[in-house]
Amino acid sequence: MELKNKYMEEVYNSVCLRNPGETEFHQAVNEVLESLIPVIEKRPDIIEEGIIDRMVEPERLIMFRVPWVDDKGKIRVNRGFRVQFNSALGPYKGGLRLHPTVNSSVIKFLGFEQIFKNSLTGLPMGGGKGGSDFDPKGKSDNEVMRFCQSFMTELSKHIGADTDVPAGDIGVGSREIGYLFGQYKRIRNEFTGVLTGKALCSGGSLIRTEATGYGLLYFTEEMFNKINQDSIKGKTVIISGSGNVAIYAAEKAQEMGGRVVAMSDSSGYIYDPSGIKVDIIKQIKEKERKRIKEYTTYVKEAEYHEDCSGIWNIKCQVALPCATQNELDLKSAEILVKNGVLAVAEGANMPVTPEAIELFQKSGVLFGPAKAANAGGVATSGLEMSQNSMRYFWTSEEVDKKLKEIMVGIFDSAYNASKEYNCPGDLVVGANIAGFLRVAEAMKWQGIAY
Ligand code: NDP
Repeated sequence: MELKNKYMEEVYNSVCLRNPGETEFHQAVNEVLESLIPVIEKRPDIIEEGIIDRMVEPERLIMFRVPWVDDKGKIRVNRGFRVQFNSALGPYKGGLRLHPTVNSSVIKFLGFEQIFKNSLTGLPMGGGKGGSDFDPKGKSDNEVMRFCQSFMTELSKHIGADTDVPAGDIGVGSREIGYLFGQYKRIRNEFTGVLTGKALCSGGSLIRTEATGYGLLYFTEEMFNKINQDSIKGKTVIISGSGNVAIYAAEKAQEMGGRVVAMSDSSGYIYDPSGIKVDIIKQIKEKERKRIKEYTTYVKEAEYHEDCSGIWNIKCQVALPCATQNELDLKSAEILVKNGVLAVAEGANMPVTPEAIELFQKSGVLFGPAKAANAGGVATSGLEMSQNSMRYFWTSEEVDKKLKEIMVGIFDSAYNASKEYNCPGDLVVGANIAGFLRVAEAMKWQGIAY
């Protein structure tokens, strides 16, 4: 989209030239630059100090070969990535994604967004992201283990508890974090908090598994309470995906009195008008690692439909896209608006296309952008880092209370910034501005190396 400011347009064009063909990265930069226009109009020092020019260029991008041997003895080769985008606020922090669609554009888009998200949590974390085009689907545990060990053999040279602390993302759950952590410890002979999302037996935090989904609901409830004087209670909810974020979003939505009627995976979606049984989803996805279609073998009245994007045709008041980028486009947004949706909050990263966001905002639908709404995961990772540094554990209640306070704080920062910059309730702009200002201050304070 064209930017209505000459300086921002120049920065954006240089990003496109320097990162040719990296459309996801361009899209993420464009959205942030657009919302920062009111800031640079008020603060000429930001341009003078080259803060934005520096921020759009990663501090470091590591790309490496990941050779591994499959169960048949065949040598396979994947590509590994780690982008260390910005360390102004603390060690680089951000997940690892294992999915065939991973490339440098996807990793840069995620790493760039992570800078602002981590800043919004108020915790001392810089921004980074990583992953590989390895597809864990259909691989045996041993294959996944060998891949993770090979991946970590190289990654271990670049990370550390005070340097860069990766976590999970798509395709990286507790199993993968365990293999990665084991290999890091083996190579470095260190038992440190170098990864988050660890199992409880190895320094993990209670509530980390649930954190992104729970945090998403705490944020959504804040939007309802403080902007519309309403609540999730009694609302019909649709959640795309059935992975880590989606499952715990569904669990918390139901705890808050919402009725979740549909969930999906990349093959299709299920519709259970009486309310999805989250325990069954956990059984299918976390234990059996099967397709969501299986739900209908447990719940006979439920329907299964192929084509996952069809999920947005179901009438609902709350829509929570929790699967992947650009999964909810303008066409789906039009249907949701027509069906009377009241709130949309992004559990996944960049799941709603820019045109769809514009429509929601124009139609008065509450919209929670990913970097604010799904920051609960990284916030709890930050709490895991604190516990590891202290060599101590907080109880579930303590972590959940801190998570809730952080999500309320994130909502307040974004909402207040939206009001201060004359677009009250526009949380996209508010989150970008609030996240940006904290990083900009630290970058200014730390100077630049000549
Ligand atoms: P998982 O790998 O656990 O789950 C991803 C889910 O999305 C799977 O059910 C997958 O189905 C489904 N999916 C993938 N593509 C589509 C599609 N086009 N339509 C419908 N469903 C689809 O990942 P997470 O839950 O961890 O992550 C989901 C999103 O949340 C990502 O964008 C991630 O970056 C973001 N996120 C995750 C955080 C975390 O703490 N885990 C923190 C913040 C953001 P299938 O099995 O068929 O592939």
